[in-house]
Amino acid sequence: IKKIAVLTSGGDAPGMNPCIRAVVRTGLHLGYEVAGIMHGYQGMIDNNIVDMNSHSVSNILQLGGTILKTARCADFRNVEGRKLAFENLKKNNIDALVAIGGDGTFTGLERLSSEYDLQVIGVPGTIDNDLYGSDYTLGFDTATNTVIEAIDKIRDTAESHARLFFVEVMGRDAGCIALRAGIAAGAEAIMLPERDTSIEELIATLNDGVAKNKNSAIVIVSEGDKSGGAFNVAKRVKEVFNFYDTKVTILGHLQRGGSPSSFDRILGCRMGFAAVKALQAGESRKTVGLRGNKIVLTDIEEALKGHEFKLEEDLLEMSTILA
Ligand code: ADP
Repeated sequence: IKKIAVLTSGGDAPGMNPCIRAVVRTGLHLGYEVAGIMHGYQGMIDNNIVDMNSHSVSNILQLGGTILKTARCADFRNVEGRKLAFENLKKNNIDALVAIGGDGTFTGLERLSSEYDLQVIGVPGTIDNDLYGSDYTLGFDTATNTVIEAIDKIRDTAESHARLFFVEVMGRDAGCIALRAGIAAGAEAIMLPERDTSIEELIATLNDGVAKNKNSAIVIVSEGDKSGGAFNVAKRVKEVFNFYDTKVTILGHLQRGGSPSSFDRILGCRMGFAAVKALQAGESRKTVGLRGNKIVLTDIEEALKGHEFKLEEDLLEMSTILA
């Protein structure tokens, strides 16, 4: 290979910038040219591609979001869109690609590389931590820290006013953020998409807290929880349980931003570095991942097939005992 391109696609996540920096600098170090594709696959179709040098990625390690921007691109789902995209890669002499994103991004990468002669590596970037092939995805740790910080603040006011708070957190159909944040912030209950907690069970837990003289309670509700979100859960609980004054907080997109944590910075560096090393070794159609503190590669098709259940049973058990 001569020239590597890097792009970010799908939802943004803290840690993408450290990863972009690692791809650019590792690529240059190994003697390749490096380009950045703007706005994900849309920039590939629009030929919005810029040459990168070492200075292009100065001072971005600490920034959330992605300097390459990200987008959702409907045209890339079609054969014609991908043909146009590949022609632009050829025009720019790009023969290898690193794409940072989620399931959708990997699907696009799989399609493109099955149709054209191009070496590709995917890097898992999403706060949801719902990708197969890596214990952790870029952005998950930072997002969890953001949620913990927010819940600590909510606890102050909950405790002062004797309130019950329902806090809705992101994660799509994965409860990773909810569970970790729940443990670390001492939530009284956690509603997870992977586990059906009935309203009756939840009320029993809250009554337990009342019996222990708890002055406030915080219930974390995953956005993908089957009871239909924090407002719904709060409404149903209030019909039966009114020991505390009840409030709902939807944390929303603040969970997606912010300076990446040390964990996400180092993970971004490691994954970007490993992606380029993999390309150099002739690898393609793989995703990079972290397994027990070792960087591993997974076939992209296997990564796309397996949805992973990452809610460790021991954490689940512990969360209920310690709350
Ligand atoms: P994420 O990568 O976070 O899962 P999306 O699902 O929005 O985010 O996917 C990002 C982009 O990947 C889409 O906007 C689209 O351009 C591309 N993509 C997703 N699914 C496909 C598909 N089936 N075929 C080709 N490209 C796809």
